[in-house]
This record gives sequence, structure tokens and C-alpha cells, in this order.
Amino acid sequence: MDPKNYESRPELLGDRIVLVTGASDGIGRALAVRSAALGAQLILHGRDTAKLEAVYDEIEALDAAPRPSIAVMDLATADSGAYTSLADSLMDEFGRLDGLVHNAGMLGDRFSIEQYDAVTWQRVMHVNVTAAFALTQVCLPLLGESGDPSIIFTSSGVGRVGKAFWGAYAVSKFATEGLSQVLADEHRDGKLRVNCVNPGPTRTSMRLEAYPGENRDELKMPEEILPAYLYLLGPDSRGVTGQSIDAQ
Ligand code: NAP
Repeated sequence: MDPKNYESRPELLGDRIVLVTGASDGIGRALAVRSAALGAQLILHGRDTAKLEAVYDEIEALDAAPRPSIAVMDLATADSGAYTSLADSLMDEFGRLDGLVHNAGMLGDRFSIEQYDAVTWQRVMHVNVTAAFALTQVCLPLLGESGDPSIIFTSSGVGRVGKAFWGAYAVSKFATEGLSQVLADEHRDGKLRVNCVNPGPTRTSMRLEAYPGENRDELKMPEEILPAYLYLLGPDSRGVTGQSIDAQ
């Protein structure tokens, strides 16, 4: 079965508690809404309360979707106390986590390595890699309480083959693939599955920032690239771990 062609059934994610980072926009937003429509209890993470509330309203308007929660945290500035208090509040409210989708990310500059600004480099590496590490670490006890836990990291084509002028973004996605593989190997004998998804070219704000001149009509919408994510979040991917999967 090719995950990109996976067909989800109604209630696929019923009773699952799923945290999506960067749920305020783009792919994360589409995944959160679709997952809620399939029965998941969503925790919508982002840094912009108003944008998250709009996603909350969209989910609340769905028939029979569990009412989501909102977790506001800027991944560029959050300290260890912010991660711990998020995990503590999830433990208090839900007692476990079944899905953790590391989707939030930033592009940074499209410059050569020679010209790349060091401060931007650190910010991109921090938001795209270190924050995912920190959130994973505090969420592992919550995932340990699930009968069928799944972590999804978000990669990119430039995280598999280096490409000129993609700077810290490309390097951060290589690191994300590495983090996913290391964690998957550490849990190879357990129930936790850990995988990477490469969304492929998708019509979002980040894509516009990276390719301002392209014809956007030819790009897939976020809603069209979700099957691989849903496959990995639901029970049909049990035993699938350590993989890097193309959503397109
Ligand atoms: P997007 O529309 O720009 O969404 C990015 C999300 O990350 C937004 O929710 C954004 O919040 C959040 N975010 C960014 N910086 C943050 C921070 N410091 N703290 C908290 N949240 C933060 O981009 P997208 O295209 O959907 O990207 C989603 C993922 O797919 C990213 O990891 C990206 O690298 C990856 N990807 C995308 C493509 C593509 O073609 N679109 C291709 C390959 C990989 P705000 O709403 O507040 O900005």
C-alpha cells in the first residue's frame, strides 16, 4: 500500500488525541481539520492565538468532531518551562497522547552559505529542529500512555539532497530526518512509531515565500496531500517506523 494513496475511513482517528504543531496555517491547519473530522481530539499548536481560534471555530462547526484545545507557544522563544507546562497540562487534561505531528517550520533566508546570516541560521535550526527535539522529549511520557502512539516529523526534498541557496532550511531538514531515524531506532522494539513525511510542493505561505514567481495554480492544496499523514496517525500503519515517506 502506497501511503500517498491511503483512503481513510470515517472515524479512523476516533478516540485519538493528536497534537499538531503549526496548526494555524497551511498543511498543519488542513491536517488538524481533517483529523478532527475523522474523530481525533486535536491539540492545535501555534504562536498566533487569533489564527488558532479560527481553526478552532472551523473544527467546532464540523459535525461530531471533538472540541479541540489550543496550545500557544512560540517555538523561537519558548524555554524549557514552557515545554514542561504544556506537557503537564496535556497529562492533566488527557492523560496521554496518541499522535504528535511536528509540522511547524520556518524557511529563513535563500542565500548561499557564504552569505548566510548567522542569527537567521540559528533561528531556523532552533525552530525546525531543536524545538521538535524539546517537544518530543516532554511528550514521550504522554505517548508512552497510548496503546498505539505515532510521531510524524516533517521533512523536505532539500532535506534529502542538498540544493544551492537553501541554507539552514535544507540543513535543518537533514537534521530532522536524522532525529526521526535516531528516535525510531531507540524505540524499534516498542509500540511507538516514528516517521518523516516530505509534503512535496504545496500551496502555502511558505511555498510562496520560497518561490514567489511560480504559477501557484499547478500546486497541490494542503487538503490534497493528507493521506500519508492520516495513514501514519491511524492504526493501519502499526509497525511502520523509521521511514521517510513522500506525501506526493
Ligand atoms: P506555513 O503555511 O507557513 O505554516 C507554517 C506553520 O508553522 C504555521 O502554522 C506557522 O505559524 C508555524 N510556525 C512557524 N514558525 C513558528 C514559531 N516560531 N512558533 C510556532 N509556530 C510557528 O507552511 P507549510 O508549507 O504549511 O509548512 C508546514 C511544514 O511543511 C513545514 O515544516 C515546512 O518546512 C514543510 N514543507 C512544506 C512544503 C511546501 O511546499 N509547502 C514543502 C516541503 C516541506 P503562523 O501561522 O503563526 O505563521
